Amino acid sequence: MKYDTVIVNGRIVTPNKILNSQIAIQDDKITALGNNLDKDAAQIIDAAGQLVLPGMVDTHVHINEPGRSDWEDYHTGSQALAAGGTTSMVVMPLNALPARTTAAEFKRHRSIAEGKSYIDFALYGGLVPGNLAEIPKLATAGAAGYKAFMATTGTDIPGDFKNVDDYELYRGMEAIQKTGLRLSLHAENPVLTDRFAAEKIANHQTQIQDYVDSRPPLVEVEAVRRALYFAKMTGCKLHFVHLSTGEAVAEIQKAQEAGQDVTCETCIHYLALDVEDFKKIGPLAKCSPALRTKKVQTELWKKVQVGAVNAITSDHSPAPASMKTNPHNNIFDVWGGISGAQNNVDLLFDIAVTTKRLTIFQFIQLIAAGPAELFGLNSKGSITIGKDADIIFLDPTKAYTLKKSDLYYKNKISAYEGFQIHNRITRTILRGKTIFTLADKFIAEPDGKFLFNEKVKEGTPYADDNSRKIIFN
Ligand SMILES: [Zn+2]
Repeated sequence: MKYDTVIVNGRIVTPNKILNSQIAIQDDKITALGNNLDKDAAQIIDAAGQLVLPGMVDTHVHINEPGRSDWEDYHTGSQALAAGGTTSMVVMPLNALPARTTAAEFKRHRSIAEGKSYIDFALYGGLVPGNLAEIPKLATAGAAGYKAFMATTGTDIPGDFKNVDDYELYRGMEAIQKTGLRLSLHAENPVLTDRFAAEKIANHQTQIQDYVDSRPPLVEVEAVRRALYFAKMTGCKLHFVHLSTGEAVAEIQKAQEAGQDVTCETCIHYLALDVEDFKKIGPLAKCSPALRTKKVQTELWKKVQVGAVNAITSDHSPAPASMKTNPHNNIFDVWGGISGAQNNVDLLFDIAVTTKRLTIFQFIQLIAAGPAELFGLNSKGSITIGKDADIIFLDPTKAYTLKKSDLYYKNKISAYEGFQIHNRITRTILRGKTIFTLADKFIAEPDGKFLFNEKVKEGTPYADDNSRKIIFN
């Protein structure tokens, strides 16, 4: 037999065409697209009635193992992602404990995830106060990129992830520039958010609207502008995570026009939910940046529609259910993070493709090819000959109501519980092997593999300018 597997009868979404043909898979890779491939197949998978899409590459996921595995671990987090059609993830350096801010922790986290994750994964390293010496070592260990917080974050627990101030951010950018990797930023002005919040709390204003008012769009836009200027002066490549306003995206467009290497993402919840939804859903929809008004959300959608946003991610930020309740009627006390990654693909398909806000080709660009490109995941991101056979089936007619019992998270809570979703993921294939079907659930052992940013391989020299020209061009 020429092929291990051939997928038949599906509607295959390639980067620029929908094909009513077959996909042949050999040795983990997509090796042919065309007709009559099934006569040379050892195994045939019938995709009748299914849209056949590239698996999502979710570049913004929090897995809390080690240290806070009761929030989410690699087993539960990657199962939720796989069941929802995500086949690769880039994992944030927080909120595991200790956070991934040293090369030693990086290696430890990698070895925990190997053998436990159902999907392929790359790992971020963190930039935090005091870890400049670790920056080049994290690159050598295989970091896909770096993450830093301009917003206030972290606890006083030793090893927890802390935000940088302007000085630490500037020095961090100088160090990261030398690695050639991208620095991803949570951009909100911490002085403003902290003091706006303190004002509200002092006045006993602790409702959802008060929280939203303590993090207005201006805190995001100001931080983006400041970071862009620091990056211009240091030559550091930037990526802005979870942008919530079209105004911030516009700042990035201006910087790109001026020649800066900068990219950005938004998240499904900023496109699916607004402030009024937050009030209906309650604490489960608390996140930072906060959910926005319909008007601000419409401006963000416009930026997504014109291609000004590189990726759409989950910012899956799980926590125990007890941290997502509000017993003292003070929304400021509730954990800020949305659990939702299992509905990455189906929910976004509903609000983007079914509503005709995006074409199916824009959709797959934003969930797969765009994010893969950002972090040098060169074997991922599209149904193209030579790429890894990371393929999902989406049944566009299979509607369902999301229930707790559907969820694979460690903590069975989701901002989207009770939502009517009008399509469903029915099969997830990782490197040619079916790992999940809606009918039979998980049918393979976890086999997720560590992904390098292909622009920086482990052990390659990166520190001197001459070698960097070769490696990073
Ligand atoms: Zn996050």
